[in-house]
Amino acid sequence: MPGNSLRNFDNPDSVLSAFRLDIEGLSMLDFRSFTPSRLEALMQEMGQPAYRARQLLRWLWRPGVRDFSGMMNLPADLRRRLAKIGAMVSLAPHEIQRSADGTVKYAWTLRDGMIIETVLIPERDHNTICISTQVGCAMGCRFCHTGRMGFRRNLRPSEIAGQVLSVVENLGDRRHVRNLVFMGMGEPLANYRGLTTALSILTDELGLNFSQRRITVSTCGLVPEILRLGHEWDVGLAISLHAPDDEARNRLMPVNKRYPLAELMNACRRYPLSKRRRITFEYLLMAGENDRPEHAVRLAELLRGIPSKINLIPFNPSSGLPFNRPGDAEIQAFQRILTDAGYTAMIRKSKGQDIAAACGQLGGSSV
Ligand code: SAH
Ligand code: SF4
Repeated sequence: MPGNSLRNFDNPDSVLSAFRLDIEGLSMLDFRSFTPSRLEALMQEMGQPAYRARQLLRWLWRPGVRDFSGMMNLPADLRRRLAKIGAMVSLAPHEIQRSADGTVKYAWTLRDGMIIETVLIPERDHNTICISTQVGCAMGCRFCHTGRMGFRRNLRPSEIAGQVLSVVENLGDRRHVRNLVFMGMGEPLANYRGLTTALSILTDELGLNFSQRRITVSTCGLVPEILRLGHEWDVGLAISLHAPDDEARNRLMPVNKRYPLAELMNACRRYPLSKRRRITFEYLLMAGENDRPEHAVRLAELLRGIPSKINLIPFNPSSGLPFNRPGDAEIQAFQRILTDAGYTAMIRKSKGQDIAAACGQLGGSSV
């Protein structure tokens, strides 16, 4: 059988056995989870010239393509073999909600019935897509709706990069989508392989063709993966800091017990930043928890010497969470201390609150 004559198909170490997918009891390949170089290896294994991998990559990530039959520059026999051994995973829209401020929240149903969310954030002259990397999250931050769901599973690369493809398909236009932020559901660095495979697709010019400089990965502070990411990629880094000392951070973010602030700051100092880049520090302001002037002073000391910008995010009320947003006067006083100390500190206006699409609100009401 020509379709099944691939040498390594059943060898667990082979390229072909990576990224398998179960479809109605059949083990299939999830082509959209292949890095561009894995596609090359696959084409080689299938006895195809190297340029076929580039042709296939372009088709796989072209908006609107659902199957192999229309890939007209691939030989008919190859198209048949591809359809026999694999599939193109796409995300099924479950619900699309539009906020009064233009923010759009997409909920997608995955093959196993789980639901994830992606947010499109309109800015003045471009759009930003906020991407999820896991169903739920294992990090357990006390203030986060996604964290309260607990961890279900990592997303596959096809499900991560697929969020961008699906939003672009829904918009009918790729042009105004400029920035990608990994700030949706889940901890991106806890799904390092899924994240970086998706990055290789998102940044390939035949894939989704985003510049690394327009991509930001946000983390609660997984130190070894921060350093690894810095060495392997040139993407922006955002740290969800939220407290300026171990005592407060331990209380809010269990991850701080594993990687205390001294270690996290050390990793930030060592993160290789290309010219003119800065690390973004997210600081969620919660009344009575971390919003006092002495916290701001400690924060200024903590970040000394790190090229940084600080995003102050007033807490977004989320059902059942025991925190409150500070008053405007407290928020401004906090900002003032940081700007007086020479930092760029912006107060982030939360978008999409009316549809629960703002930071920390993702996770859905039904999951
Ligand atoms: N797990 C990664 C990526 C998710 S980013 C991380 O934590 O960095 C989601 C951002 O929203 C994080 O900065 C998170 O701390 C913040 N956040 C969580 N709950 C929030 C809430 N209730 N209000 C505002 N921001 C929140
Ligand atoms: Fe996970 Fe980030 Fe939420 Fe913490 S803030 S629980 S790391 S998604």
